[in-house]
Amino acid sequence: MLQKWLRDKLQGYIIDIANRVLPQRMHELEVQHCLYAKKVIVKILRKNILGLCYPGYKTIILSPRIILLPQRYWDTIILHEMAHLKFPHHRKAFWSFLTILF
Ligand SMILES: [Zn+2]
Repeated sequence: MLQKWLRDKLQGYIIDIANRVLPQRMHELEVQHCLYAKKVIVKILRKNILGLCYPGYKTIILSPRIILLPQRYWDTIILHEMAHLKFPHHRKAFWSFLTILF
């Protein structure tokens, strides 16, 4: 009972912080690379999924759990999803473009 309460409380805390820091960091990267999404959503995704991109809607969804990782990984995840705005697949062109973003 207490464990569930604590888990929910911690999760809420993580989501609050993620909502403050992740869209802001993504916006900095958007400006830096002139690559803009229409919308960024912070929301818990299925197990192990840290980000998603819906290129048709120019929407990126980021897992709040990203903020539990060291900060240098945030950009890796965010830039990966941003690259999907241009290339909605994982073919060679996608990886070449991603290399340019890094
Ligand atoms: Zn991908």
